[in-house]
Formats: sequence, C-alpha cells, structure tokens
Amino acid sequence: MKYCKRCLFPDTKPDIYFDEEGRCDACNSADRKKGVENAIDWDSRAEEFKKICDKHRSKDGMNYDCIVPVSGGKDSVFQAYQMKVAHKMNPLAVTFDQFDQTDTGRINLDVLREIGVDHIHFTLNPKIVRRLVRKGFEIVGDPHWINHVGIYTVPAHIAVKFKVPLLIWGENPQLEYGGPASSRDNKVLDKRWRQEFGCMRGFREEDMVDDEISMSDLKIFVYPTDEEIQEVGVNGQFYGYYHKWNSIEHLKIVEKLGFKHLPRAWAGSWLDWENCDMKLLDIREHLKWVKYGYGRVTDQVNIFIRNGEITREEGLKIVKERDGKMEHKQEFCDYIGITPTEFDKIRDTYVNKDILEKVDGEWTLKTPPN
Ligand SMILES: [Zn+2]
Repeated sequence: MKYCKRCLFPDTKPDIYFDEEGRCDACNSADRKKGVENAIDWDSRAEEFKKICDKHRSKDGMNYDCIVPVSGGKDSVFQAYQMKVAHKMNPLAVTFDQFDQTDTGRINLDVLREIGVDHIHFTLNPKIVRRLVRKGFEIVGDPHWINHVGIYTVPAHIAVKFKVPLLIWGENPQLEYGGPASSRDNKVLDKRWRQEFGCMRGFREEDMVDDEISMSDLKIFVYPTDEEIQEVGVNGQFYGYYHKWNSIEHLKIVEKLGFKHLPRAWAGSWLDWENCDMKLLDIREHLKWVKYGYGRVTDQVNIFIRNGEITREEGLKIVKERDGKMEHKQEFCDYIGITPTEFDKIRDTYVNKDILEKVDGEWTLKTPPN
C-alpha cells in the first residue's frame, strides 16, 4: 500500500491514479482548481452557466426554472440559495428522505424555508427502506446504497413529471475526490453517470429484488426512459463545473441562514459540519475502510491538507486516530435486525486481507498511513 506524497489517499482507492512524483490525481485536480495551471477559465464557465439559466427561466413564471436536489447538507442548501438569490431562478427543491436523517439534518432542511423555496419530500415506504438498507449492507457492502440511488433518481422523475428540464447538482465528485481523467471535466449528470459514478457500486435497482422486495416496490428507482428524458429535455448540470467549489465558503454562507453543526464530530469522521445529515455514516465509512484502507476522515483531512490549512503531518495524526472507527454499530444492528456478531461476519466478507490484518481481535492496516 502506497500513499500519495501530498495528501493521504492510498493507491488502494478505486479509480485513483498517481503521477511519476507520487502525487494523486485528486491533488493535481485541486491545483488545477486553484488556477495553478490556469487550465480553467472560470469567467467563461460562469458565462456559460448564465446562458443555461437564461435558457431555462420560465417565460411566464408558470413553472419552476430548475430543480435542486437537497439532502440537508451544507452544499445542497447552498445550491438552493445560489439558484434563488444569485441566479434569480425559481427553484423547486427535492429531498429524498434518508433513512438515518439526523436532528441536525432536519433543522438544516428548514434553512430552505428561510431562503423561501417550494420543497418536495419523497419518503419511500419505510418497511422497504429497512430491507434495502440490510440488503445494501449484505450484498453491496454499503448500507447507504438506497440513499445514493434515491438521491440520483427521484429528482429526475420529478423533472419529468413537472416538465422542469434543468437539474442542478453540486460538485463533480471526480474533480474533488479524483477519478478517471475523462470523467473529471464532466458537466452533465445523466443515467450513465449515475450508474458509473453515483455510488451504485455495480448494482442496479433490479438486483435488489427478492422474496420480500418486488420490482413494484422499487419503481421510483427505475430511471426515467430515454424517451421521457428527451421529451422534457432533462439535463443535470454540475454547479461545481461552472463555479469554483469551496465547501468552507458555502458553510459560512449557509450558517448565516441558520445552518447548524452536529453537537460533535462522530467516530469515523473529523468535521462536525460535514455529512451532518446521516447518522449511520460511520458504518458505511467503516466498510469503505475495510475494503480500501481509508474512510471519510481521510477524505476530509485531504481537502484541508491541499488547501494548506493543516500539514500532512497533522493530517496523519487525525487519520490514524479516527478513520474507520464506528459508534453506531448497535443502533445499526437493531435497525436492520441482526446481532453484532452477525454484523462482524458480514463485514468480514468485505475485508481486504491484502491490506488489513487482525491485531488483538481488531482489523488493523498492515501499512498505516505514512
Ligand atoms: Zn493526493
């Protein structure tokens, strides 16, 4: 296992590429973003975005101008604010209700009331959700599979049904967190993107069908057909392609509108203001950690290292202390109806034994970040 010379991503992260100097492409992307290579002409991209808004603004005000999918995290709340205030659009906010929504996440969704937008909540039958969370854990190794598919699919249905073509997404994750070169300048989110990069992890909605889940239970997860998409002209745009994406700046803006932090950063995380809408994120990130040797703490710390806000040395200490840790294991087991021993057994099927070994009964990285 090798780590990036600048940040703390390991070479076991899927879709990561290292250059000759041992730096990862997420670091190189970050430099591009800062204009070090002057590769991006932000003014012309902002101009391009303005044209997209003008094209989609309802002529008579009798329909919404765009749809903004909102989870309740700082970035999506910021997007709704930007569309309404900075771009003078009339957005319809759409939330796919997450099974592990936190109290803080609920409070933060109320910021939308402060901004003043119409808002649709979509809640999938909780009995089906519970089963899908368990299945996601068992066969995908990601209990949040249902959240990803819901977040990326339900807004597309709303776009089709309401005949609102423009969908505004946030950052392009391949630009922020690294990915294949061809995907980093992607500005459009469509069905193909959802399948390849939307955390579907190679599983489609039909793969979830079993004795207790029928295709009819999953109908909202079936992406609208190509004909439906074309008829309305649905196009999903990454806001972060057109405007420099800076989460810390977004946070400052939404805080003024009432956005709250978690009471404290949970295990498996470092920041109290990121992912504060998902309570069981530590479970997902622990699974990521046993599969790939890194978790959310590394993701968070790396951004601070690249921004020069902490040193790599300081980041190392935080990652070693916090990454891959869990605190909601019992709660998660109770929710999906298994015992902690059963949890360990399923979890162990995902452990990459090339990079982890058991020390005193705990999975430990053979090559800790260095
Ligand atoms: Zn790096």
